[in-house]
Amino acid sequence: MIGTVYKSTGSWYTVKTESGEIYECRIKGKFRIQGIKSTNPVSVGDVVDFHLETVGDETIGVIHEIRDRKNYIVRKSVNLSKRTHIIAANLDQVFLLVTLNNPPTFTAFIDRFLVTAEAYHVKAILLFNKIDTYTKDELAEIKYLAHTYRKIGYECLGISAITGHNIDKVKALMKGKVSMFSGHSGVGKSTLINALEPGLGLKTASISEQHKQGQHTTTFAEMIDLSFGAQIIDTPGIKGFGIVDMDKEEIGDYFPEFFALKHACKFNNCLHIDEPKCAVKQALEDNEIAWSRYRSYIQMLEGDEDNYRKDSYED
Ligand code: GDP
Ligand code: ZN
Repeated sequence: MIGTVYKSTGSWYTVKTESGEIYECRIKGKFRIQGIKSTNPVSVGDVVDFHLETVGDETIGVIHEIRDRKNYIVRKSVNLSKRTHIIAANLDQVFLLVTLNNPPTFTAFIDRFLVTAEAYHVKAILLFNKIDTYTKDELAEIKYLAHTYRKIGYECLGISAITGHNIDKVKALMKGKVSMFSGHSGVGKSTLINALEPGLGLKTASISEQHKQGQHTTTFAEMIDLSFGAQIIDTPGIKGFGIVDMDKEEIGDYFPEFFALKHACKFNNCLHIDEPKCAVKQALEDNEIAWSRYRSYIQMLEGDEDNYRKDSYED
């Protein structure tokens, strides 16, 4: 049988088949998965092969194979073992909620998020939330940001989780796909999920309440079916979108507008700093590339590790 992992507690896996049957499964044997050492061999979102075994008078599922992942996102454990924990696999897209104020979302944060999404091979979409609260000037700023990010290939949408503005469009983007929501605390993630599926927000809120009270020490992601034919990965207690280790030479490849010009630079290992005949610097001078994007790139290149981690994990 084939199914998708909806939930995992570390030893038991809740697997749902295409016809909607749910089985509680265990793992048998050792898995070698695409060259990564992780604390969990199977993660939420994995497509697995399993069979049924009867133990006493109980029938359980036994997972014996994991299908190749199209992508996965990770969290590095903070202890010395530096083992990787796979948060979720086979994501179709991740939505980043952005607000100008209450709380402010800086372009440096947006750009780091987008670089991470590129490195993970996950499609990213920007949702400018709280559109109902902005002044004329602020709306112009959003328009400028949306223009900047659309130009380099990212879908952008102005929404209001409170008034419902463009929520139907978010639903249309989500239909038939597995999505995740990200963004600073207070940007409106819970409110949006509640607008998408009334009643569900209550559940996620109560889960994160438990975490605040420290009743749980481990957090588990969970896949949730929404009534309009979409899935979300809920990651209580996991903030941000994780971090990918990358070499300096790689970072520019995850800025799509830089990558597109790479071949035009004089040196094929050009870091676009002060090398002669750099096509990226030229495009910057010509205002073809946004200065804010270039600034973010230089910051990442300079390895502002502390800031990077702070932005990724804290609110
Ligand atoms: P989360 O931390 O990202 O889950 O953010 P919440 O969903 O808890 O929202 C934080 C605050 O922003 C709450 O007071 C919400 O009512 C408010 N909020 C969320 N979305 C909107 C919106 O579109 N418009 C307005 N005016 N307020 C919003
Ligand atoms: Zn260059």
